[in-house]
Amino acid sequence: MLLLISLDAVGTDKFQLILKHERLKKYLNRASYVNEVSSVFVSNTYVAHASIVTGVLPKKHKVIENFVFDPGNLKPDWNWFESCIKTDNLFRAANRNKLKVASLLWPVTAKAPVKYNIPEILPRGKETQLMASLKNGPKLFQLEMIFKYGRLLRGVRQPALDNFAFACLLDVIKNKKPDLIFSHFTDVDTNDHMYGPHSKESYDAVDRHAERLEKLFKNLEKNKLLEKTTMLIFGDHSCLESQKEYCPNEILKQLGMADFKGHKLRSYSAWFKSCGGSAFLKLYDKSKLGLIEKKLDEMIKEGGPVKRLLSKGEMDESGFSDGYVLGIEAAENYYFYELENDVHKGSHGYSLRQPGYTTSIIALGKGIRKNIIAPKGSIMDICPTALRILNIEPWETDGRALTELLL
Ligand SMILES: [Zn+2]
Repeated sequence: MLLLISLDAVGTDKFQLILKHERLKKYLNRASYVNEVSSVFVSNTYVAHASIVTGVLPKKHKVIENFVFDPGNLKPDWNWFESCIKTDNLFRAANRNKLKVASLLWPVTAKAPVKYNIPEILPRGKETQLMASLKNGPKLFQLEMIFKYGRLLRGVRQPALDNFAFACLLDVIKNKKPDLIFSHFTDVDTNDHMYGPHSKESYDAVDRHAERLEKLFKNLEKNKLLEKTTMLIFGDHSCLESQKEYCPNEILKQLGMADFKGHKLRSYSAWFKSCGGSAFLKLYDKSKLGLIEKKLDEMIKEGGPVKRLLSKGEMDESGFSDGYVLGIEAAENYYFYELENDVHKGSHGYSLRQPGYTTSIIALGKGIRKNIIAPKGSIMDICPTALRILNIEPWETDGRALTELLL
């Protein structure tokens, strides 16, 4: 069994706490790990998880942001569906190779070809959560999990959501015996956004992750599965302090290219799509580009909320060069918002140039060497490594199999 565990927004610093955690010493003291693992740009959850399961850059798999471009809509759709991923991926490959797969609240898995799937999806319009979940994943399996563990849920609030996901994980391991499991936990991410990545709340969430991992190891040990299981435990991106907010669409308003008041957008001929730490400009009248660039130049020189224009390489790799004319990165301690400000104390979506903005990959169990510490890697290495472990024919990836960790 290969178990992929994504701890959302857990950066390298917090992985060090997990590796040395009193609860986990017994299990992780011989684990191997990659210390500084780069996310992909834009470093947001859906983009990163699509790169984790494909091994390629966002410009190739095409999940370039969490949300679709939908100016004025305060609740835009997310890229929920597995069909949003335009290249080969671990779900499809596992299916081709007749592996039994479970996926628990993993991003971009609505209607995925996965037998035991609880997709990460929110209800739209008048739908309830149950209706949205059942419509986009296997009904019987989800009803079984909700019947058994639904009492743990408090909407999408944490830590209840992760406690539910964890109860499902233990159940699936015991009763469905999958060959491959995708398991996603968001306790740290939720608390980072609400209270900041250096808050007590965030560190408490790290402790809860350690507690869940300890229970998982004990459970595998009790069921004599510990030696038979390979585990990769990783983050998707890190998180930075962001106490100050800025709406780059105010620039377009001043220049007469967007008309909005409060939360109501009346008209626009240009629009900044916000990704938290960065924002990208959609411009319908290209002759206005010079005006906007001049204004941005002034702001960057003044040292305000805009730090810099993104490079051509960053525009290209992120996939935003297709349809967007430029991108900007937020200055230190700032984040961007589009129209409505959902106050954040921590943000991601920044460029990969940010110092201390990496995550880690811990590897342990069957087929993994002991006590190897690799200095650097990418989240795009997870897919080719998983293909190697599962003995599945690889495809061309931007990441590489972490052979130094494998027996
Ligand atoms: Zn994330």
